[in-house]
Amino acid sequence: MKVEVVVIGAGPAGVACAVQLARLSIPVVLVERSKVGGLARNASRIENLLSFPNGISGSRFATLLKKQLARWQVPTRISEALNIEKTRDGFSTYLSNGETIRSKFLVLATGTVPRKLGVKGEESLISQKKAFYEVVHTPKKWRKVLVIGGGDAAFDYSITLALRSKKAIILTRKSPRTFPLLVERALAMGIEIVEGVEVKKLAVSEDGVLALSSKGEFFADGLLIAAGRIPNDGLLESFKPISVNFETSETNIEGLYLCGTVHRPSDQRYIAVAASDALLAASCIAKRRG
Ligand SMILES: Cc1cc2nc3c(=O)[nH]c(=O)nc-3n(C[C@H](O)[C@H](O)[C@H](O)COP(=O)(O)OP(=O)(O)OC[C@H]3O[C@@H](n4cnc5c(N)ncnc54)[C@H](O)[C@@H]3O)c2cc1C
Repeated sequence: MKVEVVVIGAGPAGVACAVQLARLSIPVVLVERSKVGGLARNASRIENLLSFPNGISGSRFATLLKKQLARWQVPTRISEALNIEKTRDGFSTYLSNGETIRSKFLVLATGTVPRKLGVKGEESLISQKKAFYEVVHTPKKWRKVLVIGGGDAAFDYSITLALRSKKAIILTRKSPRTFPLLVERALAMGIEIVEGVEVKKLAVSEDGVLALSSKGEFFADGLLIAAGRIPNDGLLESFKPISVNFETSETNIEGLYLCGTVHRPSDQRYIAVAASDALLAASCIAKRRG
């Protein structure tokens, strides 16, 4: 099929871009490999969005994004974009469902992927579904969870687990690298924070998992790894080097736009920044198509 714009990724950036393009009557197809809402689905409570004075949970936020896509009748494919190619007059996007979509413009809003811990046993626990990188994937039956990491995500994941009446234990190498409010909340909820823990190996134990560390062994039903995230820009390999104009989200490749955390450094990874990139991209596309 052929369309004016393909947007890859239905996190906050991709949804904001697709909705704005629909409002501008520019034909768009949105492609998402997993679920609408992206990484924000993991948030225990989003409190920095305007018009939600009491905050909003990540799952509720994702539900509202879906409603907004429906309201603007944005055609959405739940399929993975496997490859993109530059053509004479735009791009071809190849999907895992076998479909190829040709477009004049391409917006990449593919977010981030987890940074691996890089210790022995990690891959094996992940493949056995005894460890995950996102709290939305944790099984309901887990009662005690080890959360490895000391940043915002580790604390937010632990708060989500505590809200679900799970016992969360944060294992962190250094002192917490998040803002004081999250640490206060975690402590008030009875979340255990163990500092100075260098995890060396992960393994399956009799009835769960085992983390071997510089501070001894820790046991739990399962494990969440929150060791940071890196840009999910593998689709751009053949286009590199890429540069982005922060005023328009346009790249040095004609017709290609980058929005949200796929290109933003870790201190700029906010929903509002992702949405702002997306609106700038939509405005620029409207101008460029004439
Ligand atoms: C626990 C937690 C709490 C947070 N709380 C807040 C908060 O309170 N406030 C705030 O501002 N921010 C918060 N954030 C950060 C926020 O979630 C991100 O900034 C935001 O989700 C980034 O949006 P994005 O659209 O750029 O990327 P993402 O949300 O990562 O979305 C990318 C999407 O692209 C899809 N995708 C990737 N590759 C492909 C492909 N090849 N084909 C098809 N689809 C693909 C993914 O499945 C995903 O849905 C939080 C993050 C976490 C982890």
